[in-house]
Order: sequence, then structure tokens, then C-alpha cells
Amino acid sequence: LAEILKRADKLATVGQLAAGVAHEIRNPLTSLKGFLKLIPQSNNPQHYIEIMESEINRIEHVTNELLVLAKPQIKQFKSIDLVQKLTNVLHVLNTQALMKSIEVSIEVQTNVSLIECEPSRLEQVFVNVIKNAIEATPAGGNVIVQLLESDNEELVLRIIDNGHGIPHENIPRLGEPFFTTKENGTGLGLMISQKIVLEHCGKFEIISTVGKGTTVSIVLPFKQPQR
Ligand code: ADP
Ligand code: MG
Repeated sequence: LAEILKRADKLATVGQLAAGVAHEIRNPLTSLKGFLKLIPQSNNPQHYIEIMESEINRIEHVTNELLVLAKPQIKQFKSIDLVQKLTNVLHVLNTQALMKSIEVSIEVQTNVSLIECEPSRLEQVFVNVIKNAIEATPAGGNVIVQLLESDNEELVLRIIDNGHGIPHENIPRLGEPFFTTKENGTGLGLMISQKIVLEHCGKFEIISTVGKGTTVSIVLPFKQPQR
């Protein structure tokens, strides 16, 4: 019976995911079809073409994120310096932050930041979570990335923002595929990030207060257990 239930649960998850994907792709497709019909009789097609381009970009973005989930799970763990990695990520995200007048800073409170991981996968986690923090923070706010060491051989990473926070009724939905409160969100970032952290035998936690801000904690072991 346990096996049957597990299978049923899996199928339900696949169904939910498939429905989400279909929805995410059908909406932009419908609008593409509409604009395509309008173009021949329009005297200013450039405007339609721009909207169509942004709809195509949206489909591309969603499929790219989903492909990450479908990637074969060949694990290639390497030792890398997390401070260096985070500095690189912040360098890239700083353009977005500066446009919104948000300060993103890094606070290192550990001497050991060498960690066994899949670097490009972890990078994805950092980009997703720090982006969310920047998006939630109003102009003049700040985002702090803290790196510290726990008592039991683990590295703790905190991404702290003083943005709008998350209403408590939304907390259980975080990480659910396609759950988003943003007009142009995909609702895939947290799901993918949680999955990657679990693949690293880590922990992922979100604490938030409406109007005060949000802290995402990611705990990662320095060394991966033997598989
Ligand atoms: P997306 O960013 O595309 O909406 P995510 O999976 O990254 O998808 O995030 C899901 C939702 O979680 C967001 O739409 C937002 O409502 C909420 N969220 C995530 N991080 C934060 C944060 N730092 N502050 C406030 N809300 C957040
Ligand atoms: Mg996001």
C-alpha cells in the first residue's frame, strides 16, 4: 500500500507540474497567435513585434528553468571557495541592485569557506535567492549576505533583506511550482533552489515578517557524505 500511495503521490505531482507548464506556455502562445493575425493589417507592426519578442522571451525563460530540473543527475562535486563565488554573483547582480538604489553587501564571519559542491548549481541558488531579496526591497533598502560557521561542521549562509516580507498564509506555498506573487514571476526559483540545496545534503529555511523583511538561511555541510 505504501508503494501505491507513493506512486499516486508522484503522479499527482507530475500532473500539477504539467498543468503549470501548460499554463505558463499557453498564455504567451495565445497572445503570439493573436498578434500574428494583427500584423498584416497594421500600419505600425513594430509595436506588435516588440510584444511578441517579450512573449517569446518568456517562453524561453520558463523552459530554461524547467530544463534545469530535468538535467540528468550526474553529480560532479568540487571544492570551491564560497566567498569568491558569492563575490562573483554579487558583482553580476549589483547592476540590478544599483538601478533600484539598493545596497548589497557581504559579511564574512568565518575563516573556512572552502566547500564541496556542484558550483554552477549552487550559483543558481544564490542568484535566485539574492534576486528575490532585491526584488522585494524598496529603493534605499539593503540586502546583506552573511557567511558564518555553525558548531557542527556546517557553513551557514543568510540572505537578509529589509523588504516587504511574506504574508504568513503564503509561507506554506513557497517552493510550490509556479507559486508567484509577481506579475512577471515564474514561481520556479525557490523550488529549484530548495531542490539543489537538498541535493547538497543541506537545509533551506525562510523566516519573514510583513513590512520588516525576509531572511533565507541555507546550511551546507563542508564535505559531502560518501554516496
Ligand atoms: P518568482 O521570483 O518568479 O516569483 P520564486 O520561486 O523565486 O518565484 O519566489 C516565489 C514567491 O516567493 C515570490 O513571488 C514572492 O512572493 C515570495 N518571495 C520569495 N523571496 C522573497 C523575499 N525575499 N521577500 C518577499 N517575498 C519573497
Ligand atoms: Mg525568484
